[in-house]
Amino acid sequence: MTDCLFCRIRDGEVPAEIIYKDDDCIAFKDIHPKAPVHFLVIPRRHIENLFDVAESDVELLGRIQLAIPQIAKSQGLDSGFRTVLNTGPGGYQEVYHMHYHVLGGGQFTGFN
Ligand code: AMP
Ligand code: ZN
Repeated sequence: MTDCLFCRIRDGEVPAEIIYKDDDCIAFKDIHPKAPVHFLVIPRRHIENLFDVAESDVELLGRIQLAIPQIAKSQGLDSGFRTVLNTGPGGYQEVYHMHYHVLGGGQFTGFN
C-alpha cells in the first residue's frame, strides 16, 4: 500500500469528493477550499512535481491541461479560473503528488 495521500484517494482508500476521472487524471475538491470553488487535478500516475516530469510525460501533461478547462466549466467556472501548481519546498508544496489547484467563483483567501 502506498503512503501517498493522493495515490490513496485515486485508489479509493481515502475518501474525497471526486468530480472528474479519465484515463490520465482525477479531479477532487480541496479539503480546505481557498475559494468558493477549489479543486485539485492529479495525474493518475504518481509524479512528485514538475522536477519529476520527464520528456515522456509531455503528452500526458498536455492532455491534463486540455481537461482542466472542461472540468472548470462543469463546476460553473465559465468566466475563468486560477491554476496553481506548487513545486517543492520553495513552492510551499505540501502533498508530493503533483496537482493543479483550480480556483474560482469569487474571492481567494490566504493562498500562497
Ligand atoms: P500543496 O500545498 O500545493 O501541496 O497543496 C495541497 C492541497 O491538498 C492543500 O490545498 C490541501 O488543502 C489539500 N488536501 C490535503 N489533504 C486533502 C484531502 N484528504 N482531500 C482533499 N484535499 C486535500
Ligand atoms: Zn501519489
